[in-house]
Amino acid sequence: MHPAVSTVTPMTAPLSPRVRAAVTALPGYVPGRPAPLGPGGASHKISSNENPYPPLPAVLEVVQRAAAQLNRYPDMGSADLVGALAEHLDVPAARVVPGTGSVGVLGSLLQAVCEAGDEVVFAWRSFEAYPIVVGLSGATPVPVPLDGAGRHDLDAMADAVTERTRLVLVCTPNNPTGPVVGAQELEAFLARVPRDVLVVVDEAYLEFVRDPQAADGLAAHRAHPNVMVLRTFSKAYGLAGLRVGYAVAHEPVAEALRRTAVPFGVSGIAQLAAVASLEQSEALLERVDAIVDERERVVAELVRQGWRLPRSEANFVFLPVGSSTGALVAACAEAGLSVRGYGDDGVRATVGDVAADDALLEVCGAFLPTWSPDRVG
Ligand SMILES: *Cc1c(COP(=O)(O)O)cnc(C)c1O
Repeated sequence: MHPAVSTVTPMTAPLSPRVRAAVTALPGYVPGRPAPLGPGGASHKISSNENPYPPLPAVLEVVQRAAAQLNRYPDMGSADLVGALAEHLDVPAARVVPGTGSVGVLGSLLQAVCEAGDEVVFAWRSFEAYPIVVGLSGATPVPVPLDGAGRHDLDAMADAVTERTRLVLVCTPNNPTGPVVGAQELEAFLARVPRDVLVVVDEAYLEFVRDPQAADGLAAHRAHPNVMVLRTFSKAYGLAGLRVGYAVAHEPVAEALRRTAVPFGVSGIAQLAAVASLEQSEALLERVDAIVDERERVVAELVRQGWRLPRSEANFVFLPVGSSTGALVAACAEAGLSVRGYGDDGVRATVGDVAADDALLEVCGAFLPTWSPDRVG
């Protein structure tokens, strides 16, 4: 027997490996549910804001070729992808940091920037990953309620900034409600935020925005040394399954992100598929146009049915049904639709697939009269 083992002090209470309190206290990330089976076998997963279109043939081909190299580690710095993004966005390559989805980049960011005692301000309700990554870092989440139209209340968010605030998250368009932050609003907000507080503009749904007054995160980044952007290939570019997103950040933050990233986190397949997707931007953005057209069709029909909704600039709609959220989720499930319910706030449904959108409209049309419309919006 190893000497150390024989000298172990007898235990008075059973010990088990311990987990940080910050971890046990966290809510888990709840993934969108798979679609239930509806009448006639109809079944649509519209709970995760995925792109309904399959990968373009040119992207698939690159992925298949890259699979032959699976015995090799990928390029750790994702140099080709960084180069392609730098050119595509017209920013210096040193500011571009890819990661395992923009959520992966956000996790590295929190590790790089925050520790216990620090505060992170974000709107709520917003992206459910925010309280999780903030909680994991040990920092204190400071959620600031959205206004009645599901929009960021940037004045209240600026008021919430204290000398402990290290980071502010701005999600535009906001997931799950859909509205954008306006360009002027963002500028006014940035004028009130101290320069040593990092402002992160999460633009996961940027490509779906059609509002000409919407904030441009990259323009804000260029104008302000404390502003960075998070973007992703998961939504408009249709690569959710490959886990690739990126930050555009000024160099001290970009360098910190490179240090805290999981080594070789972005697979070779993901890097090549992302580069191929940038090369295929035109074809992919035509699909985004079609999804936006579908969004407008769905919104118009919902309004015709009598719904009042927050203005969505993304690939989803939000039905603010309050305490009837569970009932609407159940009605959707009956029809073979998996949507996302948010407590007593409402239901988010992804748009873009015509058959799924039609099924959603049918459920919503039948649901509205059963529910008191004075509580809509
Ligand atoms: C989907 C989403 C992301 C992107 O997630 P990935 O990790 O890149 O797949 C980031 N922010 C928001 C608000 C989202 O809804």
